[in-house]
Amino acid sequence: MKYISTRGTAPELSFEDAMLTGLARDGGLYVPAEIPTMSQADIAALAGCSYEEIAFRVMRPFVGDTFTDSEFAEIIAKAYAGFSHDARAPLVQLGPNHFLLELFHGPTLAFKDFAMQLIGQLFQAALARRGERVTIVGATSGDTGSAAIEAFRGLDAVDVFILFPDGRVSDVQRRQMTTPSESNVHALALDGDFDDCQGKLKDMFNDLTFRDEVRLAGVNSINWARVLAQVVYYFSSAVSLGAPHRKVSFTVPTGNFGDIFAGYIAKKMGLPIDKLVIATNQNDILHRTLETGAYTTQGVTPSISPSMDIQVSSNFERALFDAYGRDGAAVAQLMDELKSGGSFNVSQGALQGLRDLFASGRVSEEQTYDTIKDYYARTGEILCPHSAIGVKVAESHQGVTPMITLATAHPAKFPDAVEKATGQRPALPPRMGDLFAKEERVTKVPNDLGALETLIRERIAK
Ligand SMILES: *Cc1c(COP(=O)(O)O)cnc(C)c1O
Repeated sequence: MKYISTRGTAPELSFEDAMLTGLARDGGLYVPAEIPTMSQADIAALAGCSYEEIAFRVMRPFVGDTFTDSEFAEIIAKAYAGFSHDARAPLVQLGPNHFLLELFHGPTLAFKDFAMQLIGQLFQAALARRGERVTIVGATSGDTGSAAIEAFRGLDAVDVFILFPDGRVSDVQRRQMTTPSESNVHALALDGDFDDCQGKLKDMFNDLTFRDEVRLAGVNSINWARVLAQVVYYFSSAVSLGAPHRKVSFTVPTGNFGDIFAGYIAKKMGLPIDKLVIATNQNDILHRTLETGAYTTQGVTPSISPSMDIQVSSNFERALFDAYGRDGAAVAQLMDELKSGGSFNVSQGALQGLRDLFASGRVSEEQTYDTIKDYYARTGEILCPHSAIGVKVAESHQGVTPMITLATAHPAKFPDAVEKATGQRPALPPRMGDLFAKEERVTKVPNDLGALETLIRERIAK
């Protein structure tokens, strides 16, 4: 299995190298050269299997010879052992023909654990075999950082540094990053906002001397292995509702387009998905693009669903690559236009292709509060603000096909918004009850590249 870049000129890589590299050298994103398919019989045979077994069968062809069957099975077993629900991704029924896929039973209570826990084990196994170490640096507005720290803490082959904007993440999110006591974990509170964190991260990757010296690696959602891990729960949930004999639809709260892109891959692999619905908050660039064909960035407006407050939706590049017939030069040109002018227009043909695949909807702040309140009253289910956006958009796409909405975080991760909507302050699950008793360990850092690089060099030398 070979991986190629969406911009057409970076070298082809194996699964292992694509995973360890993250971003391609031509600025593109890695995708499989071909998407392996599963037959109806293969999909039917997933019925009744454990989540881990489904994960093995769905992901195995993408991994190639990077791992043997038994190594890969062991990696999967370790990745999901820390989840608090035996089904890993259970379905609950919200209403007639409407189901909620609960993706928040991992250690940091958001769906990012599905990919990050797997990637932690994949990195550890690959690096141990190579006898190498890497330095992972990530920027976060909250969920990615806590999931990454949880996945990499205590692993020998990595140091993990997470930059978060000082004072701008929720208490639960901050504590999830600052309370792990392992010495390879470094939570850095940067004096600035999320864009400053991401800016410094990019500067570090572009400082090639530093990048090579510390062996910098990235685990943000453009890493192919993260998309791959997320393909699995589309299969597990569809099969529980009768696939491949019965079609299903999905609605996905979307920011960086990673999670819904995984649904698109599941469909290409042969899973009979009817609709794939993109749900956005007021930062609705994806919804506007599908409506108008113009991908135009505007400033980010902070919302009560902060993990979807994104204006450049990185993984959308992978969908564009396919919509343009896998023409890397055409994608590179669009991305150049985006960089220089803040926008590009999708060609008529490509736009039609995208509209055939994806529907979309946008939800305001007020509607988000109302949806949380309404579903609590009607079903007793407490939705996090991101999941509520999915549920609201799903309502307008329901029909005879079962609709599965992805619940991307536990409500206790966003207690203020949930309390405002329902009057109930959602409690953390008992296994996390001591989060507020633990000691915090955090280093405040200035918004300065030189100072950050010095700190990272010193820490990894120890
Ligand atoms: C990251 C995140 C999202 C958005 O996922 P993408 O893959 O970026 O589209 C939605 N909800 C929550 C809770 C998240 O943490």
